[in-house]
Amino acid sequence: MESALTARDRVGVQDFVLLENYNSEAAFIENLRRRFGENLIYTYIGSVLVSVNPYKELEIYSKQQMDRYRGVSFYEISPHIYAVSDNTYRAMRTERKDQCILISGESGAGKTEASKKILLYYAVTCPTNDHMAALGDRLLQSNPVLEAFGNAKTLRNDNSSRFGKYMDVQFDFRGAPVGGHILNYLLEKSRVVHQNHGERNFHIFYQLLDGGDDNLLNTLDLERNPQNYHYLVKGNCPRLSSVSDKNNWKVVMKALPIIGFTEEEVQKLLNIIGSVLHLGNTQFGEGEEGETYITTETQINNIAKLLGVDGSALREALTHKKLTAKGEEMISPLNFEQAVSARDALAKAVYGRTFTWLVEKINQSLALKVHIMLWGSCSGSSVIGLLDIYGFEVLQHNSFEQFCINYCNEKLQQLFIELTLRSEQEEYETEGIAWETVQYFDNKIICDLIEEKHKGIISILDEECLRPGETCDVSFLEKLEDTLGGHPHFVTHKLANGKTRRVMSREEFRLLHYAGEVNYNVNGFLDKNNDSLNRNLKEVMCQSENQILRHCFRREEVIDQKRSEMAATQFKNSLMKLMEILMSKEPSYVRCIKPNDAKQPGRFDEVLVRHQVKYLGLMENLRVRRAGFAYRRRFEAFLQRYKPLCPETWPNWHGRLADGVLTLVNHLGYKAEEYKLGRSKIFIRFPKTLFTTEDALEA
Ligand code: ATP
Ligand code: MG
Repeated sequence: MESALTARDRVGVQDFVLLENYNSEAAFIENLRRRFGENLIYTYIGSVLVSVNPYKELEIYSKQQMDRYRGVSFYEISPHIYAVSDNTYRAMRTERKDQCILISGESGAGKTEASKKILLYYAVTCPTNDHMAALGDRLLQSNPVLEAFGNAKTLRNDNSSRFGKYMDVQFDFRGAPVGGHILNYLLEKSRVVHQNHGERNFHIFYQLLDGGDDNLLNTLDLERNPQNYHYLVKGNCPRLSSVSDKNNWKVVMKALPIIGFTEEEVQKLLNIIGSVLHLGNTQFGEGEEGETYITTETQINNIAKLLGVDGSALREALTHKKLTAKGEEMISPLNFEQAVSARDALAKAVYGRTFTWLVEKINQSLALKVHIMLWGSCSGSSVIGLLDIYGFEVLQHNSFEQFCINYCNEKLQQLFIELTLRSEQEEYETEGIAWETVQYFDNKIICDLIEEKHKGIISILDEECLRPGETCDVSFLEKLEDTLGGHPHFVTHKLANGKTRRVMSREEFRLLHYAGEVNYNVNGFLDKNNDSLNRNLKEVMCQSENQILRHCFRREEVIDQKRSEMAATQFKNSLMKLMEILMSKEPSYVRCIKPNDAKQPGRFDEVLVRHQVKYLGLMENLRVRRAGFAYRRRFEAFLQRYKPLCPETWPNWHGRLADGVLTLVNHLGYKAEEYKLGRSKIFIRFPKTLFTTEDALEA
């Protein structure tokens, strides 16, 4: 039989640590390419799984495959997402420590698919809990619902997640999944009102129009053709070849009741979705005195009916703004542009808050039920967390969203460095082997640049949003220059000598991220950070008869005039919490790579892959992993595999395991500098040593 290690010439090595030339990026990519050509999309860097999106269905996810990976360790079998799932699960069970699996990679690289495969693995292979037989089902069903409301077609991915997601799966003492909890991050709300060319709004709108029956569309006063809705035509891309909106609609409608949505809740939810479309079709006119009025009465009436709000109050609130000056309330009319942006702000707020409600509702359904706690069976419970969050993003035009996303990736990189180095160090310590320090780039300096109190970019942005008087995106940029000019990771068009850098626009700042340089255009930063909704619109919403909306728009928010946290700070704080959660767990990593931009099978674009290898810090990861020893294996596993090579260990070794291993390697002629024996593992410094031994086994 061809062993995984000796087949390396054809299919490359299944673990990058076994690459002879581990400092060479070219060798790294060549190994990926070879394996990809053989449909071997998974490769390890030690315990980190690298995955390349095959863009085609592979026959590697069946129940039989799941069974193959149960209870088996990494080296014994080809790399797989199931191996990571299973190892994580076993680590949780045996070490009784909470685990997390961090999945990263750029848009379209396969993060969401990977997270679904992991969930499915647990749903299928874990014992089921009698009380909670349906939990696995609910966990799985939450996916299509979240995807309908939170995913959209973008240029890079037909099913792109437009929010970050962290999901905890809780297991009881028997290892059965008994609960779940989802945290969501930064939904891209701007998509509700605008899409770039070739992109779409969130799937749910098209699903509703395509899949909803006539009766339903009648009640919502909707027409079937998405072209009729302003919010759906910005990208000029109403239909998708790769996705059936109609089928997905059915899936979502089936999933909602399973997760525990009542018929009434589903109706209310769809009323909201419908009214967002009507809102998009609400148009304004300009009167002779410059006043703004609504020209589309039907839309207002439809919204009023669907949301159970007062039509005239809505009309008033869309064209006027309420201010409190010196304790007195004043009403001032909005001009045309202001009315348009008030309308769009309302659509974004309604959709965004409904999404948050949806996640809360799913969480209630997945929540660990009290009776189980009472039965005491949760005393030994543990958690596996799954993080599926946007990867480092560099677009043609980078704005506030990319700034937040890339900041998030800096934080994750920081965590990654800390945890991999830490665990590497810890392993050497437990095994009693001297630790050799590894040099690496610490990106704390960039995290500080963004998040530091008072002088970080986010603080400056908040300050500029709150400062009374004329502030604008450009004044924000000037503030950045004043405070941060000269920072080694911050650049604008201004040069230190007073001259200007011609290649940069005056509206941009550049950050030198760990993964590379990104120019951010400050246009829209203040507005997006403010994320504000006129008070009178909030008032109308909190008087709605729609319970979901009333839940989303609280009266207190209108009464209490205190400013709520701004978008970037909110995001920063939620990231801090996420870091805490992840730090308390044992991490595993899945690094996803997109092989080409055409979403096609069989194409491996080396330039594209090289970028990602860099962004993901894979070479650095490999360097850290190889700094000491390329390869390590537990004594019993090592003996088991190679004992035929030495007469004293064959067929069985009867003494201490460490002595057996020592006898074996002495017989094989290993030199002292080639290996070290720890307390329970042998550490081998160079891959060549191991290959020679493998070859001897084959001979
Ligand atoms: P985003 O950041 O935009 O959400 P993502 O990393 O979550 O991107 P996915 O949605 O998981 O990307 O994958 C994009 C597409 O690639 C999938 O819709 C699917 O067609 C294909 N794909 C990804 N992983 C696999 C896989 N393991 N097998 C087959 N196809 C896959
Ligand atoms: Mg995704």
